[in-house]
Amino acid sequence: MPSATPASDRWIVLKFGGTSVSRRHRWNTIGTLAKKRADENEARILVVVSALSGVTNELTAIADGAADSAERVATLEQRHREFLAELELDADAVLGDRLAALRNLLTDPRAASRTLDWQAEVLGQGELLSSTIGVAYLRAQGLDFGWVDARHWLQANFLPNQSPWAQRLSVSCNTAPDQDWRRAFAGQANRMLLTQGFISRHADGGTAILGRGGSDTSAAYFGALLGAQRVEIWTDVPGMFSANPREVPDARLLTRLDYYEAQEIATTGAKVLHPRSIKPCRDAGVAMAILDTERPELPGTTIDGTALTVPGVKAVSRRNGIVLVSMEGIGMWQQVGFLADVFARFKKHGLSVDLIGSSETNVTVSLDPSENLVNTDVLAALSADLAEICRVKVIAPCTAITLVGRGMRSLLHKLSDVWAMFGRERVHLISQSSNDLNLTFVIDEADADGMLPLLHEALIESGAMPADEASVFGPSWREINGAVRHRGVRWWSAPSARDRLLSLAQGETPRYVYDLDVVRARARALAAITAVDRRFFAIKANSHPTILRALVEEGFGLECVSRGELERVFEIAPSLPMERVLFTPSFAPRAEYAFALERGINVTLDNVEALQQWPEVFRGRRLWLRVDLGRGDGHHDKVKTGGKSSKFGLPLAKLDEFLAAARAIDVRITGLHAHLGSGVESAQHWNQIADELGGLADQIGTIETIDIGGGLPIPYAEGDEPFDLAAWGEGLAAIKAAYPAYQLVIEPGRYLVAESGVLLAHVTQVVEKLGIRRVGSDAGMHTLIRPALYDAWHDVANLSRLDDTEQEPFDVVGPICESSDIFGKRRKLASATAEGDVLLFSDAGAYGFVMASHYNLRGLPAEDVIEGVSGDVAAG
Ligand code: ADP
Ligand code: ASP
Ligand code: MG
Repeated sequence: MPSATPASDRWIVLKFGGTSVSRRHRWNTIGTLAKKRADENEARILVVVSALSGVTNELTAIADGAADSAERVATLEQRHREFLAELELDADAVLGDRLAALRNLLTDPRAASRTLDWQAEVLGQGELLSSTIGVAYLRAQGLDFGWVDARHWLQANFLPNQSPWAQRLSVSCNTAPDQDWRRAFAGQANRMLLTQGFISRHADGGTAILGRGGSDTSAAYFGALLGAQRVEIWTDVPGMFSANPREVPDARLLTRLDYYEAQEIATTGAKVLHPRSIKPCRDAGVAMAILDTERPELPGTTIDGTALTVPGVKAVSRRNGIVLVSMEGIGMWQQVGFLADVFARFKKHGLSVDLIGSSETNVTVSLDPSENLVNTDVLAALSADLAEICRVKVIAPCTAITLVGRGMRSLLHKLSDVWAMFGRERVHLISQSSNDLNLTFVIDEADADGMLPLLHEALIESGAMPADEASVFGPSWREINGAVRHRGVRWWSAPSARDRLLSLAQGETPRYVYDLDVVRARARALAAITAVDRRFFAIKANSHPTILRALVEEGFGLECVSRGELERVFEIAPSLPMERVLFTPSFAPRAEYAFALERGINVTLDNVEALQQWPEVFRGRRLWLRVDLGRGDGHHDKVKTGGKSSKFGLPLAKLDEFLAAARAIDVRITGLHAHLGSGVESAQHWNQIADELGGLADQIGTIETIDIGGGLPIPYAEGDEPFDLAAWGEGLAAIKAAYPAYQLVIEPGRYLVAESGVLLAHVTQVVEKLGIRRVGSDAGMHTLIRPALYDAWHDVANLSRLDDTEQEPFDVVGPICESSDIFGKRRKLASATAEGDVLLFSDAGAYGFVMASHYNLRGLPAEDVIEGVSGDVAAG
């Protein structure tokens, strides 16, 4: 039904992908959006649609001659009929003819030889079906929509160098401005039109296909031909991200990109936008947007010619299925025309080459499967041809991992961690594009798994990806999905706590301050885990007497690793029963074991040699045994305490020998302990340990207690999720139910005290050097060594200027004469930061003071314990 008001012929093109057209409520969104865009902008609307999701895959199998093609066609028919039922439309009336056309393709005379033109007809059916359904539904909703056959308006280019496959199934179209075309298109009666993506008209009148994912490109062609106001790509993610968000949940939304960067990100693997879709819009000056059909209110990504140029890596992308062809020839550079001969052979087989690496005797090139038909037949024929002039090796499947961003060459010095990461894999080819927009590494596909999240993190950490640039980088995928369980407000930011800390800082600094309410709150949270029978605090994390006394009051025992720690316990809690003390030393002198055993303290041993060589120390005693379950875990290599390279624990291979040595001197093994590392994030980790220990305990027969160690993490950095204590407790309850005979013991350190403590320091100097601004602090690695030792993260705040909104990045360093005396790089602090300001290092209550030293003959920090400043915040 034609619209009553004359419509403007300014167009907006909206493209909806497979998932966006597969459900009724999404078609409602399509209708609403189209109407809204038309009204708001006084525009006409062209909607371009993909096939229902998964349909093109089925059609590809049919075009490839799958044996069960008839069944696949029947299933496709069924799927579309069911969808029409969901839309409350009459299937035969709306789709009868199209379904018949689909069935007829199976009996078409060309089907037997699967000619390319027949394959194109088959592939195009998905979009013909979905667009026909869509128009029927939108009209039924009272909207003024007309159906357009895209093949009538998009003509495939004939490029003589292309292979016949590409000339039919991976075509491009002409978008040169053509007023007649535009007038004719605008002459269609309806204000809003709906057409198919993916298909165009071949010069012979048949169908030509734009390549997998090519509906984006259809929209771009129409946008360019119409000189549209904009082209909006509506899909199942709210924009283009700094990595595939389904693989890298911390990937950041790229809110604004220029055409060239977007092109590079798309070309190098970000499936969200078809690589050929950008150039037509760029040439015609049409802005593009990427938006989420399910969440249309989100701002998405805008791609246009006016985006600010921000240097740095914007994205890391990945292409799988890359084939490398390596060609060896002796002294080939001396031969005039060698490369011409090589490339002539690629041309002959219709193969377009992507990356190139060369040396004096080798040329290696990559073939991208999205641009080529690279099947085994083609590769065999190519290899045979190339073998006439060189030795050929085909390396596949490979993955190309690409860093994309402006000014790649000037970033190389920031990429040392990235190079190191690839150093561990087998890199077949490295290529740096001549437009300075990308750096690509080609490695075996099998080596690439799991790499992208790490690479992405390293890029942000190193500053190569300027994730703080709010003009480009938006929220992370995880944040958008609300999957970030934010850590609570930090206790020290409450006004009363801040005042108290500032007044304490007037005394000498550096100074640790612990909030006892936080310690108690964590202790109570752990005590609420009913599966655990007994809890010990690992006092090596923090042995401040007041904290130890508070934890004893909360019912915790104390776990020590040295005679010094034992004596601290005797001193602060002289009446503590000895069964509430554990002694778990590592490579300690013989006398320390004797000292502990004589006082009736529970000792944990982790090697057989001690039993064999010091029988007099252990004879007749009850001991716990620490085993090594063969692997380590934790926040840093240096805190992993299991596996061959770790000094801790008895390997299971030596268990029988240990038990025999124990029997020989009448030692009874009553406890079994394992601790694989620290700051482990998965709640599953302890389940697994408890389960393994339970199994071993059953074998040993004398075990009463299972000690699953500590290692519970805390959220040091903003993006870290708080540990899921409830899930942890549930897991342990299940294990406890499986092994009810054993007492379950834990011995956390960090979890109880880390968040309670802050380190206060004064700013010594603020210095600018070659573009880097540094803030010096009177605390250094001698005060808090975790950053230098473990690359640990501590939030840094300028407590004197906490409310300053004007901030900039500073490197925060200490006063020690070591290059590693750095707390953090590019930390946002008040721009006005100056000598004498009070700096605060957060979450320093564990492994802070206890590791402090006199290095450089600087003093030890002071310590205070406070209470009653944080109120409810302590509960975190
Ligand atoms: P449509 O069917 O709507 O065309 P696609 O599946 O072709 O959607 O593209 C969207 C998908 O692209 C996302 O679901 C996501 O998995 C993938 N993707 C890959 N890289 C990126 C990236 N850098 N940013 C956003 N999405 C990406
Ligand atoms: N339906 C086609 C495909 O799956 C085109 C597209 O969705 O962009 O490749
Ligand atoms: Mg797509």
